[in-house]
Amino acid sequence: MTKNGIILIDGGLGTTLELNGYTIHNDPLWSGKYLVNDPAIRPGRRGRDHDLHISNSQRIIENSVKIARDLKDWHRPRLEAIVRAEPDLIAFETIPSLVEAEALIDLLKEHPNTKAWLTYNCKDTKSTAYGEPIEDAVNVCLKSKQIIAVGVNCVDPTLVEPIVERISNIDRDIIVYPNAGNTWNEKLRQYNPDGQSIVPFVSNYLKAGVKWIGGCCGVDPDSIRQIKQLLVEA
Ligand SMILES: [Zn+2]
Repeated sequence: MTKNGIILIDGGLGTTLELNGYTIHNDPLWSGKYLVNDPAIRPGRRGRDHDLHISNSQRIIENSVKIARDLKDWHRPRLEAIVRAEPDLIAFETIPSLVEAEALIDLLKEHPNTKAWLTYNCKDTKSTAYGEPIEDAVNVCLKSKQIIAVGVNCVDPTLVEPIVERISNIDRDIIVYPNAGNTWNEKLRQYNPDGQSIVPFVSNYLKAGVKWIGGCCGVDPDSIRQIKQLLVEA
């Protein structure tokens, strides 16, 4: 934490792994494959099941009750495994829908001493990836005292500020860690090199009320270093 109360989190794990010669995008687990196969390289931070969420999110379609139950059943053993490792804080990240957030928050009650942050993936400046209003999705999180920070991750950096303005009155810390805005090339199964640095956006994020800041896919350690410098100077 810096002296102005802003918490700096890190950048994209997959991005850092690729910079170090690991191949990520040809595996369904993405960076998760190295957490499974080569945990020695794990940079010792949040329990990151981000990439598992991406495939899981595609299952959210029909009956909401059945889906909520399925989601809880799917997440339960993973959450139990993470809680056994006694993390300081769990990252529920890249959550595509309110229904999945509700399932996770409900499951978290089974571990009453565990705290988490929850960040949504959004498709535009006002809706979750699944299409619910971001205000409704965030309100779901406010029902749980165990969720200590709420926000968005892995969204284009240009979406962050208008989203934060919509949720700036919540009584929790707002957390954001956007991606670098690289578009996905389905054919090559990799990101196009068409993104941008998130660093120039950071001061506006802070003005909008963000308290925890970091980066997701495509945000490298150098960008995080530059953000740290900005926070020190702020
Ligand atoms: Zn990401």
